[in-house]
Amino acid sequence: MTHNVLVLAGDGIGPEIVAEAQKVLHAVDVKFGLDLKITNALVGGSAIDATGGPLPEATLNAAKACDAILLGAVGGPKWDGLDMAIRPEKGLLGLRSNLKLFGNLRPAILYPQLADASSLKPEVVSGLDILIVRELTGGIYFGQPRGVRVLENGERQGYNTYVYAESEIRRIGKVAFEAARARGGRLCSVDKANVLEVTVLWREIMDEMSADYPDVTLSHMYVDNAAMQLVRAPKQFDVMVTGNMFGDILSDAAAMLTGSIGMLPSASLDEAGKGMYEPCHGSAPDIAGQGKANPLATILSAAMMLRYTLNEGAAADAIEKAVSVVLDQGLRTPDICAAGNQEVDTKTMGDAVVSALLNG
Ligand code: NAD
Repeated sequence: MTHNVLVLAGDGIGPEIVAEAQKVLHAVDVKFGLDLKITNALVGGSAIDATGGPLPEATLNAAKACDAILLGAVGGPKWDGLDMAIRPEKGLLGLRSNLKLFGNLRPAILYPQLADASSLKPEVVSGLDILIVRELTGGIYFGQPRGVRVLENGERQGYNTYVYAESEIRRIGKVAFEAARARGGRLCSVDKANVLEVTVLWREIMDEMSADYPDVTLSHMYVDNAAMQLVRAPKQFDVMVTGNMFGDILSDAAAMLTGSIGMLPSASLDEAGKGMYEPCHGSAPDIAGQGKANPLATILSAAMMLRYTLNEGAAADAIEKAVSVVLDQGLRTPDICAAGNQEVDTKTMGDAVVSALLNG
């Protein structure tokens, strides 16, 4: 079966890191006979330059028609002065909302070879492997009504609404329970059920759903404690599931446990499991065009795409193993380079992963 993959390189370091991920995809295609059909399209600032808008209709149509999307990053100072409505980031938000990508998977994996890159002690984080499942299209970031109003006494008041419908909780719960089932079998649901009614309902529904997943052990944790536990003893977690705002904050904290943003992939999934895969970092304009960008987050995003949307788990495993082999060899882009390592550029890192893959 042909897998149709749309690649959106975007801006800044986007084209450099995506080129390396495409090389790796080509190598697994050859090795595993995957029949990948890759097409490219514009998004973000490069799309603004070419067409006047960050999400051209041709790109949106291609995104709807393909099986999975691999994205680099968008944005940069060149477009910072533009009106909010046509900024590069609107291209991403447009893709997420048009494709209904409600399920955000953010793994925080610390390769033992990089334990020194973390701000925490190596023994606390070495071998860390957490998956945070964040609801991406609901909760307080989207709830209505919202705004800033003037009260009778003339004072201004800002207000937002924290809402989750039962169906929204169930669909993100399903993503999380199934991810836990495919990993270590432990799911921690994070809420603030001691204060917020919306998360009392969240907790009730997670409890109800757990009856359908007897092989997954469900626990609950208040978000303030979860933040503390993430930096105290992060290896206690396997999969965490939470709403949009709590997930936004906790996933960034978890990302920093691993020390380098250049290593972290992510996925955003719809109800059928179709997804957009991208590194957690941005377009890094400060290092664009210099061969300094770490392509591993994008390469690992391609591995997630193979695992979660294209059901090619063996190919995904092979990519992740190849990344580990390259780290064992001591090769490092500047962002993760320490004494005793060999510093390499973006392209050399991509070539090394391809070579480890083909020889593995
Ligand atoms: P950034 O993630 O682009 O960069 C932060 C720092 O991390 C920089 O010092 C950068 O050099 C470094 N860095 C990032 N990725 C790296 C990599 N792969 N290898 C080595 N170093 C890396 O965040 P920023 O500077 O706040 O934003 C820059 C632009 O990216 C802005 O226009 C912003 O809007 C955009 N952005 C896009 C996305 C996205 O496309 N999903 C996400 C965040 C920011």
